[in-house]
Amino acid sequence: MNLDAPVTGVNGVGPAISGFLRELGIYTVRDLLFHVPNRHEDRRERETFESIRGGESGIVLAEVTHIHARRIRGGRSVVEAKLKDETGTAKAIWFHQPYLVRSIAVGTRALFRGKVKRSANVEMLNPEFEVVRGDNRTKGFGKFDGLVPVYPGTGKINTSRLRKLIGEAVEEYGAQIPEILREKDLSFFNLPKIETTLRWFHQPTSGEELRSALCRLKMDEAYTLQVAIALLRQRQIQQQREGFSWSRTTLQEIARCFPFELTPGQKKAVKEILADLARGHPMHRLLQGDVGSGKTAVAAFAVAAVVLSGGQVAFMAPTEILAQQLNQVLSDVLAPLNLGRIELLTGAVKGRARSELLSRIEGQESSVVVGTHALLSPGLEFCNLRLAIVDEQHRFGVRQRLELRPDGSLVDLLVMSATPIPRSVALTLFGDLDHSVIKGKPGARPAVQTRYVPRDKISDLLIFVREKVEAGERVFVICPRVEEAEGSDLRAAVEVASRLSKGAFSGLSIGVLHGRLPDGEKRRIFEDFRRGNLSVLVSTVVVEVGVDVPEATLMIIVDAHQFGLAQLHQLRGRVGRGAKKSFCFLLSGSEDVDKERLLLMTRVSDGFEIAEEDLRLRGTGALLGLRQHGLSDQLFIDPIEDQELIAAARAHAFKRVEEDPGLQDPENQGLREAVVALAKRKGLGFLRVG
Ligand code: ADP
Ligand code: MG
Repeated sequence: MNLDAPVTGVNGVGPAISGFLRELGIYTVRDLLFHVPNRHEDRRERETFESIRGGESGIVLAEVTHIHARRIRGGRSVVEAKLKDETGTAKAIWFHQPYLVRSIAVGTRALFRGKVKRSANVEMLNPEFEVVRGDNRTKGFGKFDGLVPVYPGTGKINTSRLRKLIGEAVEEYGAQIPEILREKDLSFFNLPKIETTLRWFHQPTSGEELRSALCRLKMDEAYTLQVAIALLRQRQIQQQREGFSWSRTTLQEIARCFPFELTPGQKKAVKEILADLARGHPMHRLLQGDVGSGKTAVAAFAVAAVVLSGGQVAFMAPTEILAQQLNQVLSDVLAPLNLGRIELLTGAVKGRARSELLSRIEGQESSVVVGTHALLSPGLEFCNLRLAIVDEQHRFGVRQRLELRPDGSLVDLLVMSATPIPRSVALTLFGDLDHSVIKGKPGARPAVQTRYVPRDKISDLLIFVREKVEAGERVFVICPRVEEAEGSDLRAAVEVASRLSKGAFSGLSIGVLHGRLPDGEKRRIFEDFRRGNLSVLVSTVVVEVGVDVPEATLMIIVDAHQFGLAQLHQLRGRVGRGAKKSFCFLLSGSEDVDKERLLLMTRVSDGFEIAEEDLRLRGTGALLGLRQHGLSDQLFIDPIEDQELIAAARAHAFKRVEEDPGLQDPENQGLREAVVALAKRKGLGFLRVG
């Protein structure tokens, strides 16, 4: 018998039920065993008929003093019972269950659980119950007597049915679940075996059991991922290639291209990257830095260094506008080096222009190609691609396709992070990469002044902003994304712009930018704003990452509560790029919870701190965006709460892979299967174990 067998292999699951289970994403026995409850309900708390409140549900130990069945209109059967505990009495009513008259006859003591209606007397409607025996213990799973998992169900299959089926599955299959941790690992971490874990997870008899089980499930998750990462890293290191080398003069020449001196933080990052490039195996590095720390210059340095050594570079940006901006910056800054052609490849490059560009890339006339996803299009072949730079936002699979050369070898890879990621998260999501963090920011730029603006202060604000704009400053007005289906609170950029142009900003030159515009149009509007032909740019979040307009000093974020903290921080990083004092105004008329969040933005200006706070406040939900880009799919792990566990898992996993690099040892069989399954789910094509 096999865990990946259809779920019909479990006692009690026939074709009909397996159909219902399918709707929950449960296909196999394994899916059922690992169906995760939304929560565990603590049913150890007891109420009395006196203490229990109307409208709430609770558990009461009571005796049946009277019970009878009758029929009402339409032939429906009703069972009514009178219950009594030491504090008083209640009436219980059930529909469609005439047999109850026998199963809880007068004199039966039971735990009753249900929603309570309180008027002159207490009423419980359709209560669940569990009969209490003479020794005061309950029969069955003790469902009212402990911590009871509450599973996500559907209309057709409810949580108690699921509880039963999962219980069956654990009984029948528990012993066959392959262990990824060996005896000695379990005792090292002080964790239960997997079979015990599932029993404790699905049917805990104490909080202790549940905690242990959860810990084990987290460990399995973290451990499998870290083993996969260890295997990836191993593969990277095993790849031999000739390292780059540069003369001191060359490096000085590159440094001279920049109109500024690199900050100490930038220099350190450049040094780490050059050291990687000089090694005998490909680089795999994540470059992090707060908004405005100057990541582009660091990347540009790497671009120049590789091209001067004869390699080609592919640089993938998340959006068309950014690709275009990046292409411009690189072309300008690196012009003195005569690197050959630095070109832009996006979806907008079509026809003849495109085929000519492709052949220049193939012939290495183009040394640097900046682009969007178009960089992955079939038919694009580099002559000598040596470095791929991609944005963190790209999915792992994208990264992989870009770094993998036709001969199966890897190019050097630099992943750039647009938003700061807490270290613990980085270890989980980008654990296969070395990390460079740029500390500090260039210049003595004043921090962006962030203010919370309630609705009734908006007109004052607009007057203030208008004065600034008339004095030559530029302003971003950011609106939540245009979604017609959404409620009225999501004001479209178009609408905001039209109101501003008729009202507070009348006579100012206003541009509107949103995702629905064709790319060429977006580019044109953005250029107009950059050059100063427009002084107000009303935009949805398309400007979010990376755009650099030093003259923009003001930002108004409409309905700021609609954004995550990290996103707000990223947005406000678009201003404060010049020497002038900059402001970011968070507009919101929403409730206190959101106000707290927004006020935090006014106090904290460090991006890493904000990222961590964001995770704390929004829980793992905040990670969803990131999660799909990384390696992991985590159900149990909380990257903030579980930092220590992750670190322990990582250390142990790396050691284990070092001892058995192919996971060939029979005692590593279970682990191997788990890693292969993870690799399959995550499309880690080149992660072949053994
Ligand atoms: P980010 O890390 O947010 O991507 P950018 O690379 O866009 O930051 O740089 C932000 C701004 O700071 C740009 O206008 C850039 O030209 C400028 N800049 C970068 N490095 C320095 C430096 N060492 N000295 C002065 N200005 C710098
Ligand atoms: Mg940037």
